Amino acid sequence: MTGATGTVPFVDLGWQHAEIAAEVDEGFGRVLDATAFIDGPDVGAFEEEFARFSGRQHCIGVANGTDAIELGLRAHGIGRGDEVILPANTFIATAEAVDRAGATPVLVDCDPRHLLVDPDLVAERLTDRTRAVVGVHLYGQIAPMERLAEVVRNAGHDRVALFEDAAQAQGATRNGLGIGSWGTAATSFYPGKNLGAYGDGGAVLTDDDEVDRLVRAIRNHGSARRYYHDVKGVNSRLDTLQAVVLRAKLARLEKWNTLRREAADRYAELLGDLDGVELPGTMEHNVHVWHLYVVRVDRREDVMESLRDAGVGVAIHYPVPVHRHPAFAELGYAEGSFPVAESTAPRIMSLPMFPGITAGQQERVASALRAAIS
Ligand SMILES: *Cc1c(COP(=O)(O)O)cnc(C)c1O
Repeated sequence: MTGATGTVPFVDLGWQHAEIAAEVDEGFGRVLDATAFIDGPDVGAFEEEFARFSGRQHCIGVANGTDAIELGLRAHGIGRGDEVILPANTFIATAEAVDRAGATPVLVDCDPRHLLVDPDLVAERLTDRTRAVVGVHLYGQIAPMERLAEVVRNAGHDRVALFEDAAQAQGATRNGLGIGSWGTAATSFYPGKNLGAYGDGGAVLTDDDEVDRLVRAIRNHGSARRYYHDVKGVNSRLDTLQAVVLRAKLARLEKWNTLRREAADRYAELLGDLDGVELPGTMEHNVHVWHLYVVRVDRREDVMESLRDAGVGVAIHYPVPVHRHPAFAELGYAEGSFPVAESTAPRIMSLPMFPGITAGQQERVASALRAAIS
């Protein structure tokens, strides 16, 4: 999949597979021999390894990242009648998970530089019904969680829990702290994520023993003991084959995130002097893991077409803010409610970014972008 000469894929998962192929073969063989497809020993081992990697007490594997958010909220007792604040510019799953938990998503705008949730706007939306605030670590850097904690504290809302949507931020840190340091965190192992499975997967990370116990029960039909059901649960388990892949990838994640950072630095060098392209920035105190490299341009559709014609894979994350989707029209936000999210959505464009992208490929992206802009 590294592509014919001259083309640069948007993402190349083949490079990652080549690095772990032998380990995955061996691990899959082990699982097939034991026929331990659900809750095999690799699941527990992965949970322990990923908790340690993130600096957390507990990691609970689940079926996908959307479930991870939902189960985390439910384990905190959040549901019908409750409000959960989240940014308008995120992948739709953040809002879906809140809705599935039975709560009402309350949207806020983001800051124009980093496109992360704006804590001052969160302060304005806190009510007596607010039970959680979700910081989304969009594109690979951690949202200003300590400031979210501060606005919640200053408002005297001690019933409000902080959550982290860390689907795009495995390995990211803020002030030296890993994901889940400010509240219960949910992450996704969708194949294209920084830590991706060979199918769907997700996890909840927490330091709270009770949240750990409840998420473990809810993911498995609400039972701690087989066929005895204490709470209403769901079927949302991480399967053993995925855990094998995730263990192999986790052992290399630090290195792969470093390669992403080097690629981001190289884009900054190649594109820094190019008028008409706004480059992404890293918020102070953050170590970014560059899940996505999102630039902003005018006449985006023309620029994308020109890049594609030049054999460069590009994408948009995300073309439509949550409140502008028909699926969430019921929330009742008019156009113009979130000016930053709305004005950047038509200008953002994600460039190829993956561990294994070569300097030559990035140079081809840069020269195609240069040609497209001029
Ligand atoms: C990928 C993603 C999710 C959902 O993860 P799935 O595993 O696809 O359910 C949630 N939030 C964000 C920000 C994501 O990027």
